[in-house]
Amino acid sequence: MMKARISEIFLSIQGEGVYVGEEQIFIRFYGCNLNGCRFCDTQLYSFREYNSLELSEYLTTRFNDVYSISLTGGEPLVQKDFLKEFLPSIKRNFKIYLETNATLPTALEEIIDYIDVIAMDFKLPSSTGLGNFWLKHKEFLRIALQREVFVKVVICKDTELIDVKKAIELLSDYKYNITFILQPNSFEIDRSLMVKIQDFQKYSLGFISDVRLIPQMHKLVGIR
Ligand code: SF4
Repeated sequence: MMKARISEIFLSIQGEGVYVGEEQIFIRFYGCNLNGCRFCDTQLYSFREYNSLELSEYLTTRFNDVYSISLTGGEPLVQKDFLKEFLPSIKRNFKIYLETNATLPTALEEIIDYIDVIAMDFKLPSSTGLGNFWLKHKEFLRIALQREVFVKVVICKDTELIDVKKAIELLSDYKYNITFILQPNSFEIDRSLMVKIQDFQKYSLGFISDVRLIPQMHKLVGIR
């Protein structure tokens, strides 16, 4: 039986994106294939191993009145072989919400049947300080559109309009009604960053009908 490396499991509210405020069980998978976004707030140093039976028993006994599970990280898709074994065993009891950096399209394809909602990031080079992942994101989005999906970008003081334009271009290759979320980097929130994001929002609304500015709510209200 496959084993997963999991850093933590906890109950909280979803703090990002269109499901903000929803109660979820968070399963934080250890490890990330990017491991270096400048704004990363989830540096993980330890994990516990679970096989799928142990994990599904833990969830159903500890959280039997909770409806939604968030697979988060790190990058959950790094452990897709475990997810392939684990998700079928819990799918009928929970809504499965995947938070992902959207750079592992082949892994997504292998587990998409068990996912209900995909919260995918576009990693903007001027935000992350890394290279660009546009081709991966494009392929990922093509597959993700089989499910409910929205796209989020983190906006930092260094974020450049050219990257926002590229994100819009990529979204417009498919359809315009995908929700596009501009999330301020929580470490840098101040008036100038918010003005910058409002400018990006105004620009994006010229091309996409649903563009929202949503900060990380859990941090604003001081919960996990
Ligand atoms: S993809 Fe996510 S978990 Fe990985 S380094 Fe970037 S912000 Fe951190």
